[in-house]
Amino acid sequence: MIIEGKEKKWEIVCGLEIHCQIISESKIFSGASTRFGADANENVSFVDAGMPGMLPTLNRYCVHQAVKTGLGLRAKINKFSEFSRKNYFYADMPTGYQITQFQYPIVGEGVVTVDLEDGSSKDIRIERMHIEQDAGKSIHDIDSRKTFIDLNRAGVGLMEIVTKPDFRSPEEAGAFLKKLRSILRYLGTCDGNMDEGSMRCDVNVSVRPAGSDELRTRCEMKNVNSVKFVMQAIENEARRHVEVYENGGTVEQETRQFDPISGQTKVMRKKEFAHDYRYFPEPDLPPLVLTDEYIKQVADELPELPDAKKARFVEKLGLTKYDAMVICENKEVADFFEKAAAGHDAKKVANWLMGDFFAMLKRKNLTIDESPVSAENLGALVELIEKNVISGKIAKDVFEIMSETGDAPEKIVEEKGLKQVTDTGAIEAVVDKVIAENPDKVSAYKGGKTGLMGWFVGQVIKESKGKANPQIVNRLLAEKLN
Ligand code: MN
Repeated sequence: MIIEGKEKKWEIVCGLEIHCQIISESKIFSGASTRFGADANENVSFVDAGMPGMLPTLNRYCVHQAVKTGLGLRAKINKFSEFSRKNYFYADMPTGYQITQFQYPIVGEGVVTVDLEDGSSKDIRIERMHIEQDAGKSIHDIDSRKTFIDLNRAGVGLMEIVTKPDFRSPEEAGAFLKKLRSILRYLGTCDGNMDEGSMRCDVNVSVRPAGSDELRTRCEMKNVNSVKFVMQAIENEARRHVEVYENGGTVEQETRQFDPISGQTKVMRKKEFAHDYRYFPEPDLPPLVLTDEYIKQVADELPELPDAKKARFVEKLGLTKYDAMVICENKEVADFFEKAAAGHDAKKVANWLMGDFFAMLKRKNLTIDESPVSAENLGALVELIEKNVISGKIAKDVFEIMSETGDAPEKIVEEKGLKQVTDTGAIEAVVDKVIAENPDKVSAYKGGKTGLMGWFVGQVIKESKGKANPQIVNRLLAEKLN
């Protein structure tokens, strides 16, 4: 995206830092539960509360999840990594420091391919990913004069994914977040729900004259909590920078807050630097050392990821790139599709899935797991059309009934007598009737108005209550009228 200034054209330079809550039964350095929705301070161990003498113990499963995620990001897994203390005071962090990774993160450089609206794709480079603990929550809205602290979230494992400043438009950042969420969900390492805070995005934005490769001062917006807001924040912040530069000002490095209501950003604090946190190696935890065997073992467990699935659907099942992209974004949808398409025309199944089926889910406000139409029944419906048992038009009515009753299409077609008439004799009788009843149209047709053919076909189909096979109707009409 190019921003037209008064004097020149500007380009956006943006990078993202995403905190992703690790799916794990217990916290990263204690045995306390991570269950969402528990009563306040129910899931708090002495370690999480920062009691004197308590020591952290690294959760093996969180490491496993992080390595899995790193492999899913096509990233280098660092066999040596180290934990550090990041020191700062916050009321919902009783230890006064966060255990994180600084100099030696568990995951190094990787890459995520994003799919853009115009059908093209772009590789976004990952700088690193480290693991760390989350802080608790300060609750300000229960009492006007008191703040309450809930430590249930304190110590929950996080993966912090940092990208290179590779985004040139809000759309690219939006596409990246969707792709990242899709990969994490396929892997089962983070549920990716931004509105519940299990995926939180910090946005770094700067601008530069279009075509140059300089990197100017950036501003950071913390914890933007939806894809839409991230996109808005990037655009509005970039426009603010352009305005500052074009009015002869300088952009200061600072942390800003995005206000979803106005869509604007406002200053929160002047940016702190890494040295302000007095990072030092965590004395209570040894370095984390992984073996090649261990990394290979995790790699062997990886499921087929969205890109691989998409490529397979295009190459083996003949889907268009766009259809494959839409279907593969969500693993449940991809699984449903594969089940429905087994043994049938995959393209036709995809059309039904993305058309009537998605529209039905949306109308009924259901997830695909709650669909009254099973994958097998959707496949069976397509087969009935393929085998000319019903026409595409009747199939729409059958589908409506399926989505109400959940019945198999064969049963509905049988019970309602919807089978297509392919008996030439029966159709011929209807064709003759239509011709006999419309002599004026017949002579108009013979006089050159051949466009009337469609009208005749429509009449015969209507007369047969939609059941006459359209190919036979066309053939018979052509024979009799020409
Ligand atoms: Mn962090």
